[in-house]
Amino acid sequence: MKPDFSKGLIPAIIVDATTKDILMLAYVNEEAYQKTLETNQTWFYSRSRKGLWNKGETSGNTQEVVSIRLDCDQDTLLIEVIPKGPACHTGSETCFFDSIKQANNQSDYDVNIIDEVLKQIKDRKQTPVEASYTNYLFDKGVDKISKKVIEEAGEVVIAAKNNDRDELIGEVSDLLYHTFVLMEEQQVSMNEIKAELTKRFGKKRNNKGDRREIENW
Ligand code: AMP
Ligand code: ZN
Ligand code: ZN
Ligand code: ZN
Repeated sequence: MKPDFSKGLIPAIIVDATTKDILMLAYVNEEAYQKTLETNQTWFYSRSRKGLWNKGETSGNTQEVVSIRLDCDQDTLLIEVIPKGPACHTGSETCFFDSIKQANNQSDYDVNIIDEVLKQIKDRKQTPVEASYTNYLFDKGVDKISKKVIEEAGEVVIAAKNNDRDELIGEVSDLLYHTFVLMEEQQVSMNEIKAELTKRFGKKRNNKGDRREIENW
């Protein structure tokens, strides 16, 4: 099937292929679509500038195309990309950072907080910040970080035994954070963890595209 450009521009939803974060929406005409296919980078039609636009042409934040899907009636594209940098011209990873409404206890689906935390830990290691607790941990090294992981694991268990939900949420957060710091110290990436989990979880891609089926765990 081909996109239907008979009614003019069609929207393309751009998704991060790794995190599945929704990054941006832009419009595509036939030429932009062809350019995207040819170059394996995203091209759009800018309604304000009235011309073709290669995402990243000035910022350098190009997007490598991983997959292109067409919706049921061929008038919307869903493009998964590996972004070179933030998708938004404001410097935000995603254009959809402005939350208008959020049901209680539902985390913002479009901002993956775990990735944000991981990114900040990486940033701190590369560019130390004065009085940063993360840098304090990196300075102390693997023994100190490991002790903190064990300490926080102990606190998780105590909170669970006490049936204290608020305490448990706090302690699991502490444990995750210190585990992330330990991973960074040991140069183990979340992608490697995800690959291992995926292997164990028995992820299967069927020929309908991207549906995962859990076989065993
Ligand atoms: P870039 O394509 O990242 O080099 O940015 C070039 C210009 O395109 C920017 O100055 C903005 O005007 C516009 N632009 C970039 N990214 C977006 C976006 N996600 N949504 C809307 N406009 C954008
Ligand atoms: Zn449609
Ligand atoms: Zn934006
Ligand atoms: Zn704690």
